[in-house]
Amino acid sequence: MDAISAEPLDRRLIDAALGHLSSRFALDVRETCASTSDVAHARLRDGAPSGSVVVSETQTAGRGRRGRNWLSAPGDSLTFSLLWRFPAGAQPPVGLSLAVGVAVARALEGLGAAGIGLKWPNDILADGAKLGGILIETVTEGGRHGAVIGIGLNVRLPREIAAAVDLRAGALDGTMSRAPSRNLLLARLLASLADVLDEYERTGFAGFAREWQARHAHAGRLVRILAEGAETIEGRAAGVDADGALLLETASGVRRIVSGDVSLRAT
Ligand code: ATP
Repeated sequence: MDAISAEPLDRRLIDAALGHLSSRFALDVRETCASTSDVAHARLRDGAPSGSVVVSETQTAGRGRRGRNWLSAPGDSLTFSLLWRFPAGAQPPVGLSLAVGVAVARALEGLGAAGIGLKWPNDILADGAKLGGILIETVTEGGRHGAVIGIGLNVRLPREIAAAVDLRAGALDGTMSRAPSRNLLLARLLASLADVLDEYERTGFAGFAREWQARHAHAGRLVRILAEGAETIEGRAAGVDADGALLLETASGVRRIVSGDVSLRAT
């Protein structure tokens, strides 16, 4: 591990790397917390502004979807949550996890990462291995939508994490010649998120569908859709709809898979 990529999280360095965009974000850099998304939710309830960010060196109870764990290791992972408020009167933020996937992919590619792919609906892959996850939790108050956007990325992959996850895990350092410092990485991710979220407010996910599809890790492949308490559906992943639904070609025709509570697996 080189000195740059091991640099501790540092609010001043993140702000400096954000440059003129730093005024759009309020950074809370922590040594530890249970879950950055839990802290961001508390902030949301307390009326914190859009652009509040919680980033933590370690999480004692990092969360994935449906009560699953997100594992991280100090110095090797980047785990943060961004609070975002949508304008009054905006539609519910459908397809947001896919739009955020595009934002993450753009930022990683901008830093030189090769082979980045997106797995419906919320994973970041590199050459088929999971290097990141996105957890979107939305809250509606007084008819106005807000979101806590949680992102976990493996900059490097400790053996314990590789062994503990049930899928093949990967890390950013395998996709580029030199992993960036996490301060620079976070600044680039936030800049890309601001861009994408501004555009999302105008176009919804429809404005990103083509770009998402260009990185679709399972495009044209046979997959299974697993849902608790429901029958497994098999089909060929054809792409995504304008609202982020997965289009699955099955024996009985094309089906739209809309629930965020399902998991996709290659057959
Ligand atoms: P699936 O891919 O099954 O749909 P999910 O999207 O429901 O998963 P996530 O919310 O992305 O799950 O994250 C939780 C899951 O990710 C865990 O159950 C574990 O399999 C895996 N995981 C946890 N930590 C890591 C990590 N650091 N790197 C890669 N994978 C991880």
